[in-house]
Amino acid sequence: MAATVIDGKAFAAKVRGLVGEQVSKLKADHGIIPGLAVVLVGDDPASQVYVKSKGKMTVEVGMKSVEHRMNSDVSEADLLAMVQSLNDDPTIHGILVQLPLPDHLNSDLVINSIDPAKDVDGFHISNVGLLGTGQKAMVPCTPLGSLMMLRDHLGSLSGLNAVVIGRSNIVGKPMAQLLLGDSCTVTIAHSRTKDLAEVVRRADIVVAAVGRSQMVPGDWIKPGATVIDVGINRIDKPEGGTRLVGDVEYESCAAVAGAITPVPGGVGPMTIACLLANTVTACCRVNNLVEPKGLTA
Ligand code: NAD
Repeated sequence: MAATVIDGKAFAAKVRGLVGEQVSKLKADHGIIPGLAVVLVGDDPASQVYVKSKGKMTVEVGMKSVEHRMNSDVSEADLLAMVQSLNDDPTIHGILVQLPLPDHLNSDLVINSIDPAKDVDGFHISNVGLLGTGQKAMVPCTPLGSLMMLRDHLGSLSGLNAVVIGRSNIVGKPMAQLLLGDSCTVTIAHSRTKDLAEVVRRADIVVAAVGRSQMVPGDWIKPGATVIDVGINRIDKPEGGTRLVGDVEYESCAAVAGAITPVPGGVGPMTIACLLANTVTACCRVNNLVEPKGLTA
């Protein structure tokens, strides 16, 4: 039987709807408008597209959107001063510094200068530590969106075997922590993993976050498994032009899996929706208000 296609676009629209409702409530009941600030350094075209799309969706859900563009040769001191001014700004509840930063800037230093309560990307070491110890954290958006889709599709994840392919700080590791938090038995596979095919074949849940186009074939997938494809890879089309594909071979995996996320239209849209969700959550936390249900881990 063909796999159920997990429609990330529709799910993301639902999450943005919930965020919009919360924003209206915050305005009506408390006179608060959640604010998200994005700092973009340099003129990387992909980053510019992401930032534009983030700003547009922030405004669409009724939040304040602020964008600060800085030249690619900005000094670290100036960038840190910008982050500090946003930390001090009470109308800003979420701060995102778009990565990657130019090589002369220390990304860890910059990310760790963000107030952890406003760190809506969840990359600050305090949030990493909170997530790792099962405490209330700001959770990285892509793994959060992936978890939401898994919970929505499977209900309880307890006791399931989950294999996360990729061990990056922004996807693989936090994804594994979230799955562990939901009582999965978690394996993190990576570039040095021996016999990856056999490891993946044991998984009830496969999360592929590698960045290698279509590297997971259908015969690695356990029949009925749920496949979350985080990868975004641009490849050439035989007839000319390019198209986006994931880290899994969609057709062959969909023939075996129980459910699968497509690329595009799977995890991608959920990432921005979760950024907006995190901003509302941060706003509620700083104002000691009840957090919205269904928007956090
Ligand atoms: P990364 O390069 O930081 O990490 C890749 C990981 O894959 C590494 O841990 C590495 O050990 C592992 N790896 C590399 N080759 C491997 C192999 N042959 N076998 C097994 N593991 C291997 O990448 P990242 O930032 O985690 O992103 C991964 C992918 O997810 C990329 O395609 C990226 O574009 C995509 N991504 C998508 C979203 C989204 O919103 N959908 C967000 C972030 C990243």
